[in-house]
Amino acid sequence: MKQQNFINGKWLTGEGYKRDIINPSTEEILETVYEASSKQVNQAVDAAQAAFDQGIWNSDPLLRAKTLQKIADKLETQSEEFAVIETENTGKPIREARLDIEDTVGCLRYYAQLIKQQKAEEITQWDGSISQVRNVPIGVCALIVPWNFPLLLGMWKIAPALAAGNTIVFKPSEVTPLSMIKMTEIIDESGMPEGVFNLLLGDGKAVGEKLVIHQNVSKISFTGGTETGKAINEQCSRTFKRVSLELGGKSPLLIFDDAELNLAVEWAIFGAFFNQGEVCVASSRILVEEKIYPALLEKLVEMTKNISLGDPLLDDTEMGPLVSENHLKKVESYIQTGLKEGATLVTGGKRIKEKGYYMTPVIVTDVTSEMDIVQEEVFGPFCVIQTFKTEAEAISLANGTKFGLAAGVLSADVVRAERVAARIQAGTIWINSYHTPFVNAPWGGFKQSGLGRELGPQGLASYSEPKHINVTQQVNKLGWYSS
Ligand code: NAD
Repeated sequence: MKQQNFINGKWLTGEGYKRDIINPSTEEILETVYEASSKQVNQAVDAAQAAFDQGIWNSDPLLRAKTLQKIADKLETQSEEFAVIETENTGKPIREARLDIEDTVGCLRYYAQLIKQQKAEEITQWDGSISQVRNVPIGVCALIVPWNFPLLLGMWKIAPALAAGNTIVFKPSEVTPLSMIKMTEIIDESGMPEGVFNLLLGDGKAVGEKLVIHQNVSKISFTGGTETGKAINEQCSRTFKRVSLELGGKSPLLIFDDAELNLAVEWAIFGAFFNQGEVCVASSRILVEEKIYPALLEKLVEMTKNISLGDPLLDDTEMGPLVSENHLKKVESYIQTGLKEGATLVTGGKRIKEKGYYMTPVIVTDVTSEMDIVQEEVFGPFCVIQTFKTEAEAISLANGTKFGLAAGVLSADVVRAERVAARIQAGTIWINSYHTPFVNAPWGGFKQSGLGRELGPQGLASYSEPKHINVTQQVNKLGWYSS
């Protein structure tokens, strides 16, 4: 099927670039997609603007709640099909893809019920007038996502943006559009008014940038790399376009000496290598209290070497290939950078098959805070280990990068862990666990990890503007002027 773009309720063949979508496990072509042209970008924004102006969607919260619920139910019945698509396109192990789909359904249901709780506030003013304060939709929102959780991160934007009553133009990553094309079929069947949801395929240059500068796009919600986020933020600032940015990280996991060693090792590996380490919040810096470092490192390396790396469609596979050849080369280049900087490669960094972008997970030691491999996001199965002697040193190391997305603290002393968490500059901190995104709590970054928050009521608020309407029941005499 060539019609993979969805504009104003119709499936259209993209008039832009023709791209092969590759299975990173086999290097075979999964599908050829036809991406949108500039003209089609304008058509999609026009359709979204017309649907917004028509007002059917934004004036009917019950319709919105019911539609989101319907989409969730349909997606749930097709979970396995979606999990397979996600695994084939990204390389993530199928057991992780299944979690993504489950969380995507949960996200839709959460925002469907949150719509029903939205109420306008009424304030009786000193002059007898009534001030109505309500959160209203912003307008046309362009939603742009990366390739690591194509469906889930997409829904973290789509569900609250639609729940708040906006209309949407959605752009998936050019590397991983397949699950969102399939998702759009469900949206199409949900009975949503034409033009409310539009899907455009394409890359950052041909489609993303056009959406960012389009004058009828009122909000950009972007998840992706920090450098891309900076360019988008600069562009949006010119017209005060509303913008949310979920960017990169270099998140620390602090392991104190009272943490049970075997459990700590498993959480550390899960934090660093879940989804091949291609996770914005990956615990790519493991900070270990010096006393337990030798014992912990030994176990960490042993367990890392035992991670079962292979065909992501198999149930017992624990790590799949990286998403693309380009990305694999980028991650490999960081091994060379680290070696040049004087670090020690303890394990990993090997390609294991002739076909597929597989790489064994990497652990690097003998690092200092100045090194690029400690400061920059690698976004792959690559973690560096540092040690600390005191709580103060641990906090200083944890806060020692330009990022502030997430952190973890493993300790038997929860009072201490909470004290440490209070001083770490990060948007999400897990104590004695890692990674779980809770749909009803905010997600986002301090410092250069972003701007704004997704999920929770904060996620909904980020797609609304407060509007104040002050009502006096009749026109009264003012009496301000003498004549
Ligand atoms: P990327 O920045 O290259 O691309 C992300 C998306 O933006 C893609 O859809 C791309 O086509 C588009 N894009 C690229 N340039 C653009 C431009 N100038 N204008 C508009 N759109 C543009 O990132 P990526 O390589 O796809 O993803 C990896 C990055 O995403 C990592 O840095 C990771 O940390 C980040 N990420 C952050 C979160 C979070 O929640 N904070 C979650 C997942 C990934």
